[in-house]
Amino acid sequence: MTSLVVQTAFLGDVVLTTPLLAALAERHGPLDVVTTPAAAPLVETHPAVRRVRAYDKRGTDRGLTGLLALARALRAERYETAYLPHRSLRSAALAWLARVPRRIGFHDGWPLLYTEVKRRPATGHEIDRLLALADVKPHHQTPPVLVTTLSDRAAAERVLREGGLAAGGTFVALAPGSIWGSKRWPYFAELAERLAARAAIVVVGSGDDRELGEAIVGTVGRSGGRAVNACGRLSLREAVALIAKAAALVTNDSAPLHFAAAAGTPIVALFGPTLPSFGFGPRGPRDVALGVDDLGCRPCSRHGPPRCPLGHHHCMRRLALEPVLAALEETGALHRRD
Ligand code: SF4
Repeated sequence: MTSLVVQTAFLGDVVLTTPLLAALAERHGPLDVVTTPAAAPLVETHPAVRRVRAYDKRGTDRGLTGLLALARALRAERYETAYLPHRSLRSAALAWLARVPRRIGFHDGWPLLYTEVKRRPATGHEIDRLLALADVKPHHQTPPVLVTTLSDRAAAERVLREGGLAAGGTFVALAPGSIWGSKRWPYFAELAERLAARAAIVVVGSGDDRELGEAIVGTVGRSGGRAVNACGRLSLREAVALIAKAAALVTNDSAPLHFAAAAGTPIVALFGPTLPSFGFGPRGPRDVALGVDDLGCRPCSRHGPPRCPLGHHHCMRRLALEPVLAALEETGALHRRD
């Protein structure tokens, strides 16, 4: 009988759940996954996944009506086990309403609605904490897995080609956006300008980051470098395919960080109001995480507030260009040749 995983948290959380999916599929065979419409394409190509159901909890499926309709559909599948890595009441209620007889969740979720409760480790990387749901001992620094298709890779190449970047040429990807304003490092344009003489630049992000991308591309253009604004031009899987081609990614604490981890691309991750020790930092052998250490107000929230509650935003504004450039040198990305 097929098992079910319900993971409707943020994009990054879904990416970091992929090692759990692989571990469970090894035990039970391919699984079904309920996730958000945005994350669905990221997991539908994963070899551990049989079928993905998109649950638009804030849109067309919102409210009790949407929850009950999905629960009814899941009940018809007669799942034997539901794994609930997301500690939300909605996920717990969904599995309970779907009458899945075995429901496994974490102690700090909604234990009264589970039939088996696992302890969620208080520390460690999120990938390892999620693996605890299946009693899996983490292998050494297990990375997330995202699978791109031929057409994803072709779309990524098309954007690079249209931007005048040679096939197989070296470029550094920059991800300057974040849905939480306080997590945005304000010096991406200056970084791009400094890099322009040594590498092409590709800006990645959503349609909301397009203006940010245009500003960076404009700055690079004025210094005689090559840059492409890919913001809003690629699906998430296509963006993964593009990041996989980059010599390195410089990013805020946001979803592209996890895309690069899955792609094996070296990462320079910039942390402002959050800390890598929250469990969402990069951990590849060439990855670097940077942040301002001597700031009494840091960290100020689990996710990062929309804007700095103190107004000065020192956690990001004091993170200077030089350490970021030095970290990029450390990854070896700037020494690659076309
Ligand atoms: S309060 Fe401190 S940690 Fe939070 S956003 Fe402002 S500067 Fe950053």
